[in-house]
Order: sequence, then structure tokens, then C-alpha cells
Amino acid sequence: MTIKEINSLISEWAPKELAWEKDNIGLQVGSYEKPVHKILAALDVTIDVVDECISKNIDLLIVHHPLIFTSIKSINSNDRIGELIFKLIENRISVIAAHTNLDFTKYGVSYTLAQKLELKNIKILKPAESHFKKIAVFVPSDYTEKVAESMANAGAGVIGNYDYCSFRTSGIGTFKGGKETKPFIGTPGEFEKVEEIKLEMIVPDWKLSDVTNALRRSHPYEEPAFDIYPLEIETEYYGGGAIGTFEEALTQKKFLQHIKEKLNSENIKYVEGSQDKIKTVAVCGGSGSNLIPDAVAAKADAFVTGDVGYHSFIEANGKILLADAGHFETEVAIVESIVNYLKNKFISLKENIQISAATQIKNPIQNI
Ligand SMILES: [Zn+2]
Repeated sequence: MTIKEINSLISEWAPKELAWEKDNIGLQVGSYEKPVHKILAALDVTIDVVDECISKNIDLLIVHHPLIFTSIKSINSNDRIGELIFKLIENRISVIAAHTNLDFTKYGVSYTLAQKLELKNIKILKPAESHFKKIAVFVPSDYTEKVAESMANAGAGVIGNYDYCSFRTSGIGTFKGGKETKPFIGTPGEFEKVEEIKLEMIVPDWKLSDVTNALRRSHPYEEPAFDIYPLEIETEYYGGGAIGTFEEALTQKKFLQHIKEKLNSENIKYVEGSQDKIKTVAVCGGSGSNLIPDAVAAKADAFVTGDVGYHSFIEANGKILLADAGHFETEVAIVESIVNYLKNKFISLKENIQISAATQIKNPIQNI
């Protein structure tokens, strides 16, 4: 498999279209065409992690935080990023990043954090605005299966764990081809009536051009007619943060102790909420203060994230237990999720590619 193919596997889980516009995901260093045999996953590209890659003969490093985030004017081996790029290239190690696309997908960063805290019934906290369209195509009835199948193979018709979902209604299509046309049915210049099926399927935005191309390829007409509608539905697959419940409510004190243990967090900063017992908990891995109002609106008893500023604590105080467990601590579990996801993919695709989490992942922030 090439790096490009591995990046596409990640995109199936965390589509690149979910990422923030200013983010820099995908290939950071190397070549998309390069075949991959051994992968290491980490949170950041650091010298220790790169040294581990060298000692383990790794050809691809997958990280959550992009190595190159803002534009760089030179690759200077005397600065941190320049030195890392030099070392990676010298040792023929490629790097790809899956950042905010992994933040905004189901089973991504926040979902993993919720699982780590042993929450149940986990859902996306702030579902994304619709990322879906409905496509309706008019097909002569004998060709319905062929067109539906090729659209489904290109990514249409997936609803939850079901695929090949469609709805079909029959009706009469009419047309009159110009003199230059070569109609599949009928004669140029004559008014025709044909029994057709209106075939409707749901399509995620990022599959739309693949699906319309597949539709055109499989449709017998010279000019297939189809409509595309935006769908005003919230999706349960993509969005910010996650929310879940404990089987049994915990006291505030026990809850804070629980976070500390599960996230290996040495230092938790918090303000108390309005509830003595904590049962419903919202989380956001990394920096999630912007989701505090969503956590309050969702009636969460507590909100766990990182990088919380003083003013956010003031805002939350007495309303919701707000706990800052650290950016690193609330995100690092995603590395195992990346490893497990790709490991399972490689098994089902019968690919002999090794993948593991780096052992040199360290929180650069220390506490005294
Ligand atoms: Zn982060």
C-alpha cells in the first residue's frame, strides 16, 4: 500500500473535508506514492519520536498535530521544524497528519476521550451542520439496478450501518432530442414518453463528484437528468466534542479523581458546577472551551477539556463542573485509536503492514 492509500483509509474515518480550512492535514514530508511497510503513530513529531522511527526502520509516521502548520520560509536545520524535516528526509521517513478531521468525527479525538473516561451512550456533543445531499436521478427502469449499484459503489446510499439505501418511484419521463442527438430510446426530433424510475440516494458532500461521475458512466442516456438537494439534517457522525453518561453518578470529588486516574493527569484545574453528583459528562480533547455553552445546553453535569483560560472558568463557575485535564492528557489516547483502526483495516484488506504507537510520546509540559 502507498501512503496515499493509507491516507485514504484515514479519510474514510475522518474525511479531510471536516478539517478546519486553515489546518494542514495529510502529507507533511515524503511522497504519496511511496509504498509503506512499517508505521508508527504519535501525537507530535518530536526528535525522540523521529529517533524511535529511525531505530525501528519506520517508513511512515502518522501524527495528530501537523508538523508544518504555518507557512515556513526556509528549511533551516538550526530551528526545530527544519531540524525535524532534515532528519526525516535523511532517513526517508514520511509523515502524514490527521488533525481537526479527527477532532470532528465519530470515534475521533473526543469520542476516544469519552471512552477513556468509561462513559456510556456516547454521542457527538455538537453535531455538525449537514454534510449530506440527496441525489435524485431519472433512469429507464431496466437500468435502475446498474445505476444504483455504481452510485452505491462510489459512496452513495450509506445510512448508519446500512449501505445500498435508496428509494425508487416510477413515473413517465418525456423528452424530444434535437437533430444532432443520438437518443438511447426513440428518434431525434420526436417527442418521446418513457417509463422511468426516480432513484433517490443520500450522498456525503465529499463523495458527490465521485457519485455523479459514476452515475454518468452507468446511465444509458446521453444527458442523464438528475437533481441534487441540500439536506437539513444534523449528522450523528460528525461534529465537535462528545457526551455520555456514567452507569452510576459520582460525587464531584470522586469524578475528579476518576479523570486523574484514567487520563494520567497530574494536575487538574477545575471549578465546581451546580450538581453534587456527576452523571452526564461532556468532553472535548485538546482545546475545547468554545464548547462550554454546548455542554451546558446539553445539561451535562461536567465538561472535561484542556487549555481552559481564566475567563472560561469564571463563565462556568457554579453552572457546570469544568475540568481542565490538559491538552496532551485529553488527546493522547487518539494515538491508540489510530493504531487500532488501521490495524483492523490492514487485517481485513490482508495487507502485511506493521503499525504501533510510539513509545517516546511525552507531554512536554511538566508540573512541580
Ligand atoms: Zn491538539
